[in-house]
Amino acid sequence: MNVIDFRSDTVTWPTPEMREAMAYAPVGDDVYGEDPTVNELEAESAALLGKEAGLFVTSGTMGNITAALTHCGRGDEMIVGREAHMFRYEAGSSSALGGIHPHIIDVQPDGTLPLDNIRRAIRGDNEHFPRTRLICLENTQGTIGGIPITAAYTAEVGVLAREHGLKLHIDGARIFNAAVALRTTAKELVRDADSVSFCLSKGLCAPVGSVLVGSREFIRQARRTRKSLGGGMRQAGILAAAGLIAIRTMIDRLADDHANACALAEGLAAIPHVEIDLSKVQTNMVFFDLTDDAPISPTELADRLHREYNILIRPYPGYTRKFRAVTHYWITREHVETTLAAMRELLA
Ligand SMILES: *Cc1c(COP(=O)(O)O)cnc(C)c1O
Repeated sequence: MNVIDFRSDTVTWPTPEMREAMAYAPVGDDVYGEDPTVNELEAESAALLGKEAGLFVTSGTMGNITAALTHCGRGDEMIVGREAHMFRYEAGSSSALGGIHPHIIDVQPDGTLPLDNIRRAIRGDNEHFPRTRLICLENTQGTIGGIPITAAYTAEVGVLAREHGLKLHIDGARIFNAAVALRTTAKELVRDADSVSFCLSKGLCAPVGSVLVGSREFIRQARRTRKSLGGGMRQAGILAAAGLIAIRTMIDRLADDHANACALAEGLAAIPHVEIDLSKVQTNMVFFDLTDDAPISPTELADRLHREYNILIRPYPGYTRKFRAVTHYWITREHVETTLAAMRELLA
């Protein structure tokens, strides 16, 4: 990569080992269930998360929609965070495609939905109400800082869900970042979930794809949902081959990304006109604000970092003075130092 690209971990290129594996991957027709590499990726992903079965899907968004549409019918309701990707960034697909009514709860600064608020959001049996079917959590919680959610909290939500006959879905786009940060396993973090979707194409560096996991029966239904969404792929083993390398070799190294995020955050905290809450930097995301009295505007800062230093950091969509920097495989400690030096020059 010739730019230092902090915009997201979605910008990661596949590693040379992935490209090699993709070139020689055994393949078959996956809609017939005959692609051995896809089958291997689905089985290994399920085992890694302690579930019975897995389903390879094109994106994290497709994983979440497939889960929501499989758990819920039209007019059913899902409880979801106002700041969740499933509510904010998926083109309203659960309601547009599935007729699912979202019931929104504010996400707390620690990334959780308060148990009492979830409890209050669950509908009683009354013909006026939609039927509550699903609770959705996000781990790590992206928009509020990449905050990892603990197994203990998720277990409490699991109890609540079971008490009310509801399903629990976890949008685990970055579940392995959460596991590494909390020094536990992803399996432990999703023990109480009925379904989990995780991304291969973010910090794990695969070029395309996510995996949805759950019970054998849930995945059987989800295959049908995926087909109906146009997501049945054929010789997808080419893509799954990179996914296998992602889950076999790219998880533990996420700790390096977290250390680089910490170094970036600590460096930024020492630069005038930068405001940052270091306690929020727990995984690979660094959110910071430019103060009103900064010598240059946020857009000018972003433009000059790009033009003069070949560094991409952008104001966070929907905010004027807030930036988000995401560390990943293609960002080294040296890149972090270069970036801090550039910021010091531009904000002097
Ligand atoms: C990236 C992301 C997704 C899925 O995104 P795609 O771009 O569709 O792969 C889902 N949830 C969260 C929290 C994400 O960050």
